[in-house]
Amino acid sequence: MKKAIFPGSFDPVTLGHVDIIERSAKLFDEVIVVILHNSEKKSLFSLEERLRYLQHATSHIGNVRCTSDDGLTVAFAKKEGANAIIRGIRSIKDYEYEMDIASINHHMDPDIETIVLFADAKYSYVSSSMIREMIRYQQDVSAFVDEDVYEALKNKQLQ
Ligand code: ADP
Repeated sequence: MKKAIFPGSFDPVTLGHVDIIERSAKLFDEVIVVILHNSEKKSLFSLEERLRYLQHATSHIGNVRCTSDDGLTVAFAKKEGANAIIRGIRSIKDYEYEMDIASINHHMDPDIETIVLFADAKYSYVSSSMIREMIRYQQDVSAFVDEDVYEALKNKQLQ
């Protein structure tokens, strides 16, 4: 059984993430999407909200499971019996960052490979940080997030 993990902050999940998840689900028997909350990064959405949005946005994909963890990416992969880490690349900026992370992870566990998928052109400028900024200024983000996530975000804006 070929298992991969797709780690990230998903604050919130975007259609760009969903595209990567759909494409990796075709390459692996199981894809575990994991919100890693071990960094100092402050999030706009709580862990529970981010997990709920992820589950909504990926409920149409059979071989995908969403969860969270507070450990290291490679340790989580090992625990799950996965030997691949999926990451998405939108630009040269992502490339440099992802190469560093992949090298560190390879150093920590050479049995686990990082697999990079290039962003679909239509999502290449979509990022969680851009969506967070738009939400702050009450802008319509419906073109960039799943429908259920959009509804949840709209309710959040009204709070
Ligand atoms: P992190 O904080 O670990 O970068 P993110 O949730 O921002 O987590 O992203 C998780 C992964 O998804 C990263 O590899 C990122 O490059 C990728 N990604 C983010 N947005 C997109 C997008 N629009 N298209 C393709 N990949 C993306």
